[in-house]
Amino acid sequence: MDTKNSGFNSKLIHAGSFEEETGSAVTPIYQTSTFKFKNADQGARRFAGEEDGYIYTRLGNPNMDELENALAELENGYKAVVTSSGMAAVNNVYLAFLSAGDHMVGHNSLYGPSRSIMEKMYPRFGVESTFVNCENIENIEKAIQPNTKLLYLETPANPTIGIIDIKAASEIAHKHNILVCVDNTFCSPYLQKPLDLGADIVLHSMTKFINGHADIVGGAVIAKTKDLYDQLSYVMKNVGFNMDPHQAWLTRRGLKTLAIRIDRAQENAKKIAVFLENHPKIEWVLYPGLKSHPQHDLVNKQMNGPGSMMSFEVKGGLEAGKKVMDNVKLALLAVSLGGIETLIQHPASMTHSKLSKEEKEEAGITDGLVRLSVGIEDAEDIIADLDHALSKA
Ligand SMILES: *Cc1c(COP(=O)(O)O)cnc(C)c1O
Repeated sequence: MDTKNSGFNSKLIHAGSFEEETGSAVTPIYQTSTFKFKNADQGARRFAGEEDGYIYTRLGNPNMDELENALAELENGYKAVVTSSGMAAVNNVYLAFLSAGDHMVGHNSLYGPSRSIMEKMYPRFGVESTFVNCENIENIEKAIQPNTKLLYLETPANPTIGIIDIKAASEIAHKHNILVCVDNTFCSPYLQKPLDLGADIVLHSMTKFINGHADIVGGAVIAKTKDLYDQLSYVMKNVGFNMDPHQAWLTRRGLKTLAIRIDRAQENAKKIAVFLENHPKIEWVLYPGLKSHPQHDLVNKQMNGPGSMMSFEVKGGLEAGKKVMDNVKLALLAVSLGGIETLIQHPASMTHSKLSKEEKEEAGITDGLVRLSVGIEDAEDIIADLDHALSKA
């Protein structure tokens, strides 16, 4: 169905869908590794790229295509590649656009592995990097070198909920012919469209909001232009980052309810943030929807809503933080985010426990910091759960 001129919600339901022989209302799962050719000539034409059609699932599959086309429309991009995980998507970007002798500038508070592979693994292939706090745009300009090829951002960043001005950062990068990639996992295209703000590439861990049901791991990269897409697609197909057809089918199903899931989670998050901000055991709350958020104006400028991710500091440090974790009942004590269930985690003892004291300080991870991904349960129940857990801290 042609949804190019449809609204965002119509795109969520129909974008990427195609006619298929049986008339099935929902796209079937093409659970096959390979595709038959009618004859030798057709096989030859497909390999030569002279005829559209499928060859082998690592190179493309109708379920991957449906999801890729939907994501491209939702992010206002040219086309997407879908990958087996969010980290496969990150590596797809690094491998497509960085070569030996190149340099990358990244935000200092990224999703852990996005930074650690760049610092620990990519130097083996001659790629250098500098990580700075990109919330301060001047830091980006100072970190740029003659061999800088990629600016890699994540906003809001994990777990400090810091916001980077995508438009201003892209303008600086483009002045120096540098590509801009934004990890848009925390927002999804419903709340933020980095390509419209000037970025060249958008990345998602679809494990989070896009699929939304905590039942698959997956990733995507959306390119603004055909040239960028071709480079990403080459890596996806030949390195083998492709998504499995069943995984793609589940993700396309989850994507249909993105807007209503986020609307509901966001309404809950607004109430919970106010509750926490007024709680005597809480030092501070970082939530883009609170006036107390240091970049509240930028949130309003570049995002369509504050989302459902927040961090807060429990008075009493590490022990108090752990006490809260041990006493929640409704919220699941688990990493990940963006699902329909409320998840709570403690970065200092969990996701960021391997960082040194200095690294934690630099990334803004304090001992009592708790990260909350608000789900779509009743706000009153989540608040009662947190209130009970905080009473034990
Ligand atoms: C989870 C996450 C990733 C990695 O995605 P996986 O699907 O776990 O491989 C990358 N970036 C952000 C912001 C994430 O939250």
